[in-house]
Amino acid sequence: MAKDHKSDCRLPEFPSGAPVPTCQGLHAPTRLNTELVIPRGLFDETLAELQARSARWRESAAILCGHVAGSQWIADVAKFYHRLCDDRGRSLSIILAEAAKFQLYEELNRFQLRLIAGIHTHPEDWVDLSWIDQRNQLCSKKGFWSIVVPSYGQKPWLIENMGVHIRTSNGWRRLTVGQIRKHVSVTESASWKAIKIE
Ligand SMILES: [Zn+2]
Repeated sequence: MAKDHKSDCRLPEFPSGAPVPTCQGLHAPTRLNTELVIPRGLFDETLAELQARSARWRESAAILCGHVAGSQWIADVAKFYHRLCDDRGRSLSIILAEAAKFQLYEELNRFQLRLIAGIHTHPEDWVDLSWIDQRNQLCSKKGFWSIVVPSYGQKPWLIENMGVHIRTSNGWRRLTVGQIRKHVSVTESASWKAIKIE
């Protein structure tokens, strides 16, 4: 992601946690007491649009927004960078403009939705968070998730093949495959239907 994409959660509705560290080792957390839940329909729709937007040559990104229920961070809707602003997507970079962030915060506040997870594509199968990714997350709140999708979002869309990262009090940590299976659910939710907040 580009260096001018400075992100945090400055608004009261999305209070920021500790400052994003400049460089942290990405060690798997030893234990997790939280879970990410993404309805299958939303998961597939999000990846389909990221794949189309990336078009095999540029990064694309979205924010999954929703609600927190107990230990579950539940995604309800995806907001795509390229719909919020000119994301200036390139082969190795993408941005979310400051004005677009504030528009997003305002919308989420109005609909009482929270930032749940960032999701963005990488060119190949390297799905760690880059140094710039770590600095430029939209939210640094503990428990916020960040998913990196390989191969510019080309199928197969398997969560185990993606980089799933969680913000902890000690920085970003990447989940092991075993932890993804245990703590990330792509659910066949009958109740979920696309929420239009645009
Ligand atoms: Zn990245």
